[in-house]
Amino acid sequence: MEESFVLPIERLEPLKGWGGAVGAAAYVYRPSTGGQLKEVFATARATGRTITLRGAGRSYGDASLGRENIVIELTRMNRILDWDPVSGIITCEPGVTIEQVWRYVIEDGYWPPVVSGTMYPTLGGVLGMNIHGKNNFVAGPIGEHVCAFTFLAASGEELSVGRETDPDLFYSMIGSFGMFGVFTSIKMKMKKVYSGDLDVKVYTSDNLHGLFKIYEERIPESDYLVGWIDAFASGDKLGRAVVHQANYLKPGVDPTPKQSLRAAHQDLPDTLFGFIPKSIMWIFLRPFTNNVGFKLVNWAKFWSSKISPKKQMRQAHAAFAFLLDYVPNWKKSYGKGGLIQFQSFIPKESAEEAFRAQFTVCQSVNMPPYLAVFKRHRPDKFLMTHAVDGFSLALDFKVTRKNRAKLWKLTERLNQITLDAGGRFYMAKDATLTREAFRQYLGEETLAKFAALKKRFDPDNVLVSELSKRLL
Ligand SMILES: Cc1cc2nc3c(=O)[nH]c(=O)nc-3n(C[C@H](O)[C@H](O)[C@H](O)COP(=O)(O)OP(=O)(O)OC[C@H]3O[C@@H](n4cnc5c(N)ncnc54)[C@H](O)[C@@H]3O)c2cc1C
Repeated sequence: MEESFVLPIERLEPLKGWGGAVGAAAYVYRPSTGGQLKEVFATARATGRTITLRGAGRSYGDASLGRENIVIELTRMNRILDWDPVSGIITCEPGVTIEQVWRYVIEDGYWPPVVSGTMYPTLGGVLGMNIHGKNNFVAGPIGEHVCAFTFLAASGEELSVGRETDPDLFYSMIGSFGMFGVFTSIKMKMKKVYSGDLDVKVYTSDNLHGLFKIYEERIPESDYLVGWIDAFASGDKLGRAVVHQANYLKPGVDPTPKQSLRAAHQDLPDTLFGFIPKSIMWIFLRPFTNNVGFKLVNWAKFWSSKISPKKQMRQAHAAFAFLLDYVPNWKKSYGKGGLIQFQSFIPKESAEEAFRAQFTVCQSVNMPPYLAVFKRHRPDKFLMTHAVDGFSLALDFKVTRKNRAKLWKLTERLNQITLDAGGRFYMAKDATLTREAFRQYLGEETLAKFAALKKRFDPDNVLVSELSKRLL
């Protein structure tokens, strides 16, 4: 792209992980074609810089940061290349977002088979991490719905990888957090739906044990299941929770599917309570983003769900799936220090005890997470998988200059509880994991296979991120 051996200063941009707690300035390139993408790799070689791949930068921590080196942001490679409304198979460039996909396919009666709690990630980024949804226990991660992809390895090799034709590479490259090369196009199968709405049911539990019981009972009948836990509740109320179950509507149940399958029906409202513009809602949240305020918010959320007579409703797919997009910029309410998320995945046999221990430790150092989300998972075949036959708990912590060191220490204790329980971690959310913990949960055999693939596809170690420097 540039002739000179020095990178142009005007490309230097301050970048942050989505949580805002970690950041690093980098020379940012946004290619719009495969040709431009290759030119950036040539620029990196000519200038002796490393490259970090970045999609929409929605990973909470440092997975798509590369300090004072090149960051390739793939958001401009965002064309939908092919769509077959009969088979439900779509082919996209890597910068296409989950939002673009659902808006494109919904009127044909399809929905992405796996989505994250936000609709803004790119498909390249979701494959980089192999994301899971609130349906992980039944649908697996997004990688299980990919048929094939094309890939530009850091070595310059170009590959077409199919699930059936190259299973070994397929299950190793998906989830490889941008360490081998770039997903340049992705072919995946959408889920057929017969309505734009879901049937949603609400359950509450007065404690953690009750939450596990609700899951045991509801899992066989659920398409989606997600729990929100009041992390401030203690004693015999520890782990009290609200659970949302959602199910697809069977053919013929929705009397007006043509209307509900319109993209406009899915749009989240512009105002909250009918009059507060959502864009300024984070300002109202700000005074509450402290221990006292969030204790109140969590208490109110639990009790409003518990006493509400409305335990069943119809909700649009987007409204159910992307709850976290309801309040744009809500993370700003956490202030300058931002937030981190600690998510651990623990086998079903030890999950209840481990999560109880995690809440107890947080409360004992007066650092309760402000948001705690609970999900059910199933194991999968991907090399760097974060999934287990068990449960995950995602905990959001506010970061300030004053609490930062103490919080990082707390996550070490949470790591240990996770490792002792045979659990795993997830790089999309991580900002604090240590190299030792990383080795311990993945194991030497997996890491050796990963290292061999790294050597094959990136022999000069061009692809590096702040996360990989921390963990590899
Ligand atoms: C509010 C919120 C809710 C979330 N909810 C969930 C959830 O429910 N489930 C879940 O699993 N995750 C969830 N996430 C995490 C998010 O889905 C992942 O971090 C996802 O990877 C972000 O995609 P991105 O496009 O922003 O990629 P980035 O965060 O920019 O990058 C992710 C990784 O992919 C690599 N990468 C990016 N593009 C490419 C490419 N084209 N080729 C190869 N590698 C590439 C990067 O190097 C990096 O390692 C949530 C995040 C937020 C902010």
